[in-house]
Amino acid sequence: MSFKSDIQIAREANKKPIQEIGAKLGMTSDDLLPYGHDKAKVSQRFIDSVQGNKTGKLILVTAINPTPAGEGKTTTTVGLGDGLNAIGKKAAICIREASLGPCFGMKGGAAGGGYAQVVPMEEMNLHFTGDFHAITSAHNLLAAMIDNHIYWGNELQIDERRVVWRRVMDMNDRALRDIVTSLGGVTNGFPRQTGFDITVASEVMAILCLATSLTDLQKRLGDIIVAYRRDKTPIYARDIKADGAMTVLLKDAMQPNLVQTLENNPAFVHGGPFANIAHGCNSVIATTTALKTADYVVTEAGFGADLGAEKFMNIKCRKAGLAPDCVVLVATVRAMKMNGGVAKADLGAENVAAVQEGCANLGRHIANLKSFGVPVVVAINHFAGDSEAEVQAVGDYVETQGSEAILCKHWAEGSKGTIELATRVAEIADSGASQFAPLYKDDLPLFDKIERIAKRIYRADEVLADQKVRNQLKEWEEAGYGNLPICMAKTQYSFTTDPTRRGAPTGHSVPVREVRLSAGAGFVVVICGEIMTMPGLPRVPSAEAIMLNDLGQIEGLF
Ligand code: ADP
Ligand code: MG
Repeated sequence: MSFKSDIQIAREANKKPIQEIGAKLGMTSDDLLPYGHDKAKVSQRFIDSVQGNKTGKLILVTAINPTPAGEGKTTTTVGLGDGLNAIGKKAAICIREASLGPCFGMKGGAAGGGYAQVVPMEEMNLHFTGDFHAITSAHNLLAAMIDNHIYWGNELQIDERRVVWRRVMDMNDRALRDIVTSLGGVTNGFPRQTGFDITVASEVMAILCLATSLTDLQKRLGDIIVAYRRDKTPIYARDIKADGAMTVLLKDAMQPNLVQTLENNPAFVHGGPFANIAHGCNSVIATTTALKTADYVVTEAGFGADLGAEKFMNIKCRKAGLAPDCVVLVATVRAMKMNGGVAKADLGAENVAAVQEGCANLGRHIANLKSFGVPVVVAINHFAGDSEAEVQAVGDYVETQGSEAILCKHWAEGSKGTIELATRVAEIADSGASQFAPLYKDDLPLFDKIERIAKRIYRADEVLADQKVRNQLKEWEEAGYGNLPICMAKTQYSFTTDPTRRGAPTGHSVPVREVRLSAGAGFVVVICGEIMTMPGLPRVPSAEAIMLNDLGQIEGLF
């Protein structure tokens, strides 16, 4: 059987004018700032006007630990949103914007797949409404102003060796990871070593996604620590007087983007922070606006539930006062098989025993998610090669864990494939069964917070950290940052810090390599293992196959 590619399906979409989509959420054409015919930003005035509305139900889509087999969180988010609309509910989805880096690097867009996609997918995967360009500009303005401050006499006494603010670009470019700037003589300033990160790793991205208003945005931008003096005291973006101009550059980017699914249902696509050194979900402003305009909002957290859902709960929900009503945990037969030790090349063959073996990973995620007090439904994202016996094995296992699994065929069938899931999720969300509570209190010491996550979520025996790391955390507590949540940066492929350990490992420890303070975003980043903030391109980048065909259409995006 041959399937149409995602881009072919997206191209055949019967899109409605964006005003018709907005109207479903009570927006008039005045409330929308159109970017062409099928994309719009939602005006700040409209956002202000809905604050008194009742709040809809929040549904989080997360997944087991990712495997190279692909899980389909975005695809399921879109499919469930369409399924809820198909059973007569007023539902919207909220997902992240795409970064150009992965788009030109490894095959894979960010708009969902098959018959569960957001359109226009080409634009969403490319320049979209320019938000990432605005974030890049705001970030680099601050960088330029720091070097300019040093150039003109360095009144703030910035220690040039301790400038922590790097530059960003939305591209995978390993050549820029470590560079020397200001070469070329007196008029070019003082040479110093620095480098580039990818835009989605910028603290400005995390800030845009957590800010609740333009005022809050400017305050957080001002709070960014850009450098230290010789006496190690911090210098803030506010001291450089960059926060005002950065806010101006981000004014439009702060407004959420509205597009549609293949079934013409509303989709907010806004912001896209990394899920390792940042929290990995779409903007607070998009989620809260969706909750004030729809009865059900389906949203996605990046990576597996041990990272994405944990941060969604402990960072985003805590900070924005949100509480999920239901969690949908995406699993696939293929990923269960891989967790059960099957190699990617052998996924085609039926192997019920491996599925059963791999279910341990799923079981631990179910238990973890339940520990937040939120009901969990497992969505089995059906792939064409899955056998009935394998699907049955996942369902049986989930039942033994006191949860339920529902087979979903949205990738092949659109909303028809998620009617059962949508019906059940709506029932659970409406039941009020959720008793959401984050994993730790604000006032727990920073190191204890790290331990709580490592022990309760990763099921590690201990956290290993040098005295230097422990002292740093103490210093931040003394400086008033002790109440911040933790943003864990570790591999997405395992509960441990070793990407090769699949399943549900125990008896491991979590070594902390480094801690960083994102004072503007408002979290402490804890780095366990190698974390890449500027990815490189693979040997054969997707870019080689991306081109315009004779009709002027884009080919090669997936
Ligand atoms: P995630 O959000 O978990 O990273 P996506 O939803 O973006 O995953 O899906 C990743 C890729 O897998 C997409 O290209 C999508 O088309 C594909 N995919 C998802 N579900 C299925 C499925 N049931 N059958 C075949 N391909 C799928
Ligand atoms: Mg995704």
